[in-house]
Amino acid sequence: MRTALVFSAEMAAYDFGAGHPLRPERVTRSVALMRACGLTDGMLEPVRPDVASDDELERVHAPGYIAAVKAASRGGEPAPGYGIGPGDNPAFPGMHEAAALVAGAGVLAMDLVQRTEYRRAFSVAGGLHHALADRAAGFCVYNDVAVAIATAIARDPALRVAYVDIDAHHGDGVQWAFYDEPRVLTVSVHQSGERLFPGTGFTNERGYADGTGSAVNVPLPAGATDACMRLAFDDVVAPAVRRFGPDVLVSQNGADSHWSDPLTMLRGTLGGYRSLVDAIARLAEEVCDGRLVAFGGGGYAWEHVVPRAWTMLAASLTRTALPGRLPERWLETHPVPGIVLPETLTEDVTPSAPDEDRLLTETRRTIDVVRSGPPFA
Ligand SMILES: [Zn+2]
Repeated sequence: MRTALVFSAEMAAYDFGAGHPLRPERVTRSVALMRACGLTDGMLEPVRPDVASDDELERVHAPGYIAAVKAASRGGEPAPGYGIGPGDNPAFPGMHEAAALVAGAGVLAMDLVQRTEYRRAFSVAGGLHHALADRAAGFCVYNDVAVAIATAIARDPALRVAYVDIDAHHGDGVQWAFYDEPRVLTVSVHQSGERLFPGTGFTNERGYADGTGSAVNVPLPAGATDACMRLAFDDVVAPAVRRFGPDVLVSQNGADSHWSDPLTMLRGTLGGYRSLVDAIARLAEEVCDGRLVAFGGGGYAWEHVVPRAWTMLAASLTRTALPGRLPERWLETHPVPGIVLPETLTEDVTPSAPDEDRLLTETRRTIDVVRSGPPFA
């Protein structure tokens, strides 16, 4: 069973600049750790992406927005109304090419699984799930996931795609791109939008028109633990995907549900993350012959949490055992001033959660609400 790692060093050009939380090191450190762990020596096959074409981008994005990104990319003053500018999505030289390369990696990952002998593909620099049709949002310029799915269903109109998003933030851009599309199921488990960007992803967002029932959301309370996320997966995500019956599973694997993430308020651990990505891979085995296109996503504890999470994901996709200790080679070449890097891949503090009973009760209540509406009822 072949697995592709769709990545090239040029993807580090997706960089909003010093001080921005979406540091390219999140991805470059992760790929270096996968290599140091031996994952790219056979099991995980590196494949270089090309930039997405304008035609591919326009399957999701408005031509006027793409033109605005290109103008800002060339150094022009960003046109107002497109979400580009100081704050979350500052313009930078080459922004269009960098974002189109991330989108192209998604299109290629999807294509490899849809049309070649690769059963799994991993676009580690992707998962930019907040980008909207006509607006940059939440560090996301082009929605690589939505562009990849839209391109795949344009190529094969009978294709059914299930999208599972375990990033701590709601996968709003992907949901809205397919809100009235019955061939694409979007399921997102995230910290509730009551207190977190993007402020959406509530249980009453279910899809629209022909797509009614094709959107599913499990908003978790702030502080939710591994057990809450696992409950949401077992009681909502897996049954929804089984019921939908996809031809391919697409996952967004943001690592920002970790307790140490600086931007979110969930309390996941690396062990919990591993068990979730393993469950997604098993679900793909069960429902669609193992066909799985995995994306990276958020994750702002860039020093060692994100690299270890995405290396675990790569190991899960390839069913490869990881070394117990972090490779010396990686530790020596990736020092972070002022930080002692952990010695093992799984070493993690389990944060105390004296309020876990309350959080589980709240999660169960949310799950009951989700399961009382479409697509479950
Ligand atoms: Zn996120």
